[in-house]
This record gives sequence, structure tokens and C-alpha cells, in this order.
Amino acid sequence: MSLNLPALLARHHGDPSRLVQILRDVTAAEGYISPERITEVARALGVPRGRVEGVVGFYAFFSSEPRGRFRVLFSDNITDEMAGSQALRQRLLDAFHLMPGEVSRDGLLSIGTTSCTGLCDQGPAMLVNDRAIGRLTPARVGAISSLIRGGVPVDQWPDNLFVIHSHVEKRERLLSTALVPGEAIQAAIARGAAETIAEISRSGLRGRGGAGFATGAKWAACAAAPGPTRYIVCNADEGEPGTFKDRVLFSDHADLIIEGMTVAGFAVGATKGLIYLRAEYPFLVEPLLAVLEARRRAGLLGQDVGGRSGFSFDVELHIGAGAYVCGEESALLESLEGKRGIPRNRPPFPVTHGYLEQPTVVNNVETLVAAAFVARQGAEFLRAVGTPKSPGTKILSVSGDVARPGIYEYAFGVSVRQVLEDAGATDPQAVQVGGPSGTLLAASEFSRRIAFEDVPSAGAFMVFGGTRDLLAVVDNFTRFFAHESCGFCTPCRVGTTLNANMMHRIASGQGSRRDLKDLAKVSQVMKATSHCGLGATAGSPVVDALAKFRPAFARRLKSLEVLPTFDLDEALAPAREATAREDAGAHLGEELP
Ligand code: SF4
Repeated sequence: MSLNLPALLARHHGDPSRLVQILRDVTAAEGYISPERITEVARALGVPRGRVEGVVGFYAFFSSEPRGRFRVLFSDNITDEMAGSQALRQRLLDAFHLMPGEVSRDGLLSIGTTSCTGLCDQGPAMLVNDRAIGRLTPARVGAISSLIRGGVPVDQWPDNLFVIHSHVEKRERLLSTALVPGEAIQAAIARGAAETIAEISRSGLRGRGGAGFATGAKWAACAAAPGPTRYIVCNADEGEPGTFKDRVLFSDHADLIIEGMTVAGFAVGATKGLIYLRAEYPFLVEPLLAVLEARRRAGLLGQDVGGRSGFSFDVELHIGAGAYVCGEESALLESLEGKRGIPRNRPPFPVTHGYLEQPTVVNNVETLVAAAFVARQGAEFLRAVGTPKSPGTKILSVSGDVARPGIYEYAFGVSVRQVLEDAGATDPQAVQVGGPSGTLLAASEFSRRIAFEDVPSAGAFMVFGGTRDLLAVVDNFTRFFAHESCGFCTPCRVGTTLNANMMHRIASGQGSRRDLKDLAKVSQVMKATSHCGLGATAGSPVVDALAKFRPAFARRLKSLEVLPTFDLDEALAPAREATAREDAGAHLGEELP
């Protein structure tokens, strides 16, 4: 596709705050963002070239160097690895005689990895030119290999490759209650803005993104903040590995999400909503735009929303570019403004200084859905179930060693054991609740409950069966954090890499007792001194595993006395790969033939 840059920029009104969206479009047209394009975009937007270059370098889905015409990224989430993603990736690499990250000489193909693609219930998964494919098998990878070799454009590949299932296995009130579009808005209008916020407060609704902040208090603070314009931001950047409930909410209940945003807009006096959708979910874009358009036609977005004179509210869609840290609300706002997603200093908080420095509510997708129901049915909709401190329900994304992975909605207070039984986990040894930054639970803790006052969760529920190597799991998590650290502050930038290196040594049997001590120490320093939640929680899987599965670590140490941190034979592996040698003579300690 040839690129008409002036036309592209005009589509974005030459607005620098749309820089991420502009660079996404350049990437879609040309596959990468050349240094010349960086200069042209900077000039046209009237911003320093360094700013554009910084944004290109920050996001995983941007590149300033050419990549293959087919850009394949395998998810390296732990559940995809458990389902065999590494062997499938190697199969494709072998088929094209490529190394990871390398571009084939004819420019046809590059193969790499990416963090969780949100298809943990139907992995292994991959992205091809940003389109998601799940349920990979050797046969499907073989078919994909043939399509690539034949140069068939991705939009002409068979539709069945791109089918994404919702897998809703259990519904409580959020997923089983119908709501006619506009009903919640009418109820909010009838109640009035202040009383709508009061009703949300009475319901006890707390943010479902993990932190659990009181939604009513957040809305009230935004409504009271001075400023000419207010914004509602829907945080749909669910990048926590193991979480995919927002994907299903968007695919099956997008109307409810927009309804919740509009109710929030009415309550706080906002005129504009922004959805920040993660880049890994491009298949949701067209249906979502159709829902927005239908609501405009129905008078549920735009001017005089719901027939209420003077109430203007519309919603704009922004798409991320592959950065886990943008799930943090202030980093997300930076990204929405077309910048690198570096978390801001807080205070001030987004409710007073959010998008474009204006009062902004940032809510999780599930929070907005719950808010829509509270607006229509009152506080009792949530208060009727759950616990006093955690009213309502929680949607869990269940994956890993279970018979029925998928979406499960429970009243808060459900035990971990109950979820395991429902999902068909036959021999669970551990569960990671809330993703790598959450809590690792041993079997002795399965009576604990999913609730803010016990085990909080943004939604991920990854199950590890009795035969799984938990050290490999923690190794995967530490690699994830090292990859996703934005590099802004030293404790996290250095600490996540140190932890990943030490954990990898231990998991591969090359670690020492010293590594165990240092892992704990580094995790503690990161928790105490990191700038944002990513660094503060990056050590959690290590700390939890050391506390609950220490014998597994001790058994894996090569020696408790020596410090064997360098394995020469392993270090020579790339040389063996390059020379296609895997025979005994190519290994140290083996006799030459
Ligand atoms: Fe970036 Fe990590 Fe620092 Fe957060 S803690 S600002 S992710 S380097």
C-alpha cells in the first residue's frame, strides 16, 4: 500500500496528540516507520523529531527498521508456552531457515515473540501483521507457512484461521442481565448527576482493574474539579498476562461499556469519552466502531444524548501499540496524548489533571459495565451479592491446566477451590491470581477467597497442574517484567533484568544460593523504590514462589557453595545453530568423531 502522508495526517487533523494513531497508520501502510518518515511526521506536526523518534522506540509494535512483509509474533505468555508455543515457533523458523527476530533475505518474513495476546483460553496464539490467530497446532502452522510462502496477503487468508471464541462458562448478574441501550442513561438523567454519583457510591462499586478504588469517590472528585472540559477514559489495555475478560466484554457486550461511559459522562459533566484499546485486539475495532455509529444514530451519543437538552457526549477510539505499562492510568493518558507511555508523578491525580491536564475519570471496562447496571437498577444490584467490602461480582479469565478455560463470573467471596472445580482442574499445584503482578497461591491456600479483602484480582486466574515446573513459570514472569519495564527509573530498569537473569540461571539449574538471596533483595528494593506499580510488583512472583515453594528452588541449585554463573556450552549454542551443528562433537566435553 503506498502512503499518502498529507492525507493521513489530515485524517488525524494534524493533531500531535494523535501521534500514536498516526504512527500506527504509517506502520499499517509501510510495515515500519523509516527515519525519513519520522522526520516528515515531526515536521508536519510541528514537534521535535526526537519526540517522534522516542515514541517509535517506545512501543513494541513500532519499528524504525524494515520487518518482513509478513510479521509473525508468537505469544510468549506462560499458558501459551505450556500449550506448546515454543515448539510451533521453532517449526516455523525451521521452515524458513530463520533465526528469531531475523528478516528473511527476500524481505518476506520475520518471526518473533510478543507478550500475552489475550487468547490464553485458546492458545497457543500468534499475531500476523497484527491479526490474531489462536488454537495453533502443527497443522495450522503448516497451513500458515504455505500461505506465507505463496505470498498470499493476510486479508485473503481463510476466515477460519481468525475465529476467536468467547468461551463464557459461567454467568452471574453482569453477564446474564439484559439492558436495552439507553435505559441506564435515562435512569441517570431521571436521578440527576449528583444523585447518580451518590447511587454509585452506595453500591460500593470498586474499580475492577485491580486497585479497587471506590468508583463513586473517583467520579465525585472529577465532577468537583475545576476545568473547562472533563473526560471519561475507558482503560481497555488489558495487558496483564492471563487476562482476557475485557476482550469478551467488548466482543459480546460493547453496548454496555459505552452505556457505562455515557452514564459516567453525564454524572461528572464530561463531553468526551476515549477508549484505549490494546493493540492486540484489532478484531474488535470494526464491530466497536459499528456500535458507536449505531448509538449516534439512536441519539445515545452526540448532541442532546438520550433527549436531554444540553447533554453532549461522544466517544473516540484510540488503539495502543504494544506497551504493558500503558495499563497504568497515567501512562495510558500519556499514550492517549501521543507520547511515550511513561507513568506520571502523582499527585496530581487524573481526576483533577488527567487527559490534556483536564479532570478525567479513568475506569476499567468491567467497572463501566457494572456502573451501567447500578445506574439502571440501583445500588442493590451490586449490594445483593458479594461481601460487605467487595459488593457485586468479578469476572475471571481462567486459563492453564483446566478442562474448561474461559470466562467465569462469580459473586465476590468465591473460593479459589470453587473456581478450580468449576473449570475442571484435576491436579492443581498452584494458581496465579491477578497475573504476574498478582498473587501466587499454593494448594494449602485454595480456601482463600476472591475479594478485595483477601485475594484481589484484575481478572487473571492461571492454573498450574501438578507436573508443571513452577520455576519455569516464575522464569517466564520475570522475563515478562524485564521486557515490559519502560526503563524510566533505575530500580525497575535494572532490577527486572537482574531478576530475570538470576531466575533464568536458577530455573536452568545453574543458580546458586547467592542468587536466591539476591532475588529477594532486588525484589524488595524494586517494591520500595520504583516509580510505578509495574516495578513495585515485578518482584511479586519471585517473592511468593520463594516463600511458598522454596524446596523447589533449593533442589534446582547446581551447588549450594559454588557460583556457577556461566555455562560455556550453553553460551556456544548460537554458534552451533549458525553452523547447523547439533552433533556430539559440537558440544564441550564430547569427544570429536
Ligand atoms: Fe517504568 Fe518500571 Fe519505573 Fe514504572 S517502575 S516508571 S515501568 S521503569
